Amino acid sequence: METEFPNCLKCNNGTLVPLSDYGRDGASIMYKAWVCTHPQCGFHLRIDNGEVSMGDEIGPAPIKK
Ligand SMILES: [Zn+2]
Repeated sequence: METEFPNCLKCNNGTLVPLSDYGRDGASIMYKAWVCTHPQCGFHLRIDNGEVSMGDEIGPAPIKK
């Protein structure tokens, strides 16, 4: 069974792939972030504590505590 990922709407060349993470209690968080596979695009979308944020650059993000 193949899973199809959505095309990146910003560059139309890359594909958005989901990334998983682990929470503080060790529980896995599925699809916490989606990242464009195109190296020159860098679009990403992530979910933190129920808040969705997105950006055009990959780099250190400000940590909200
Ligand atoms: Zn893209």
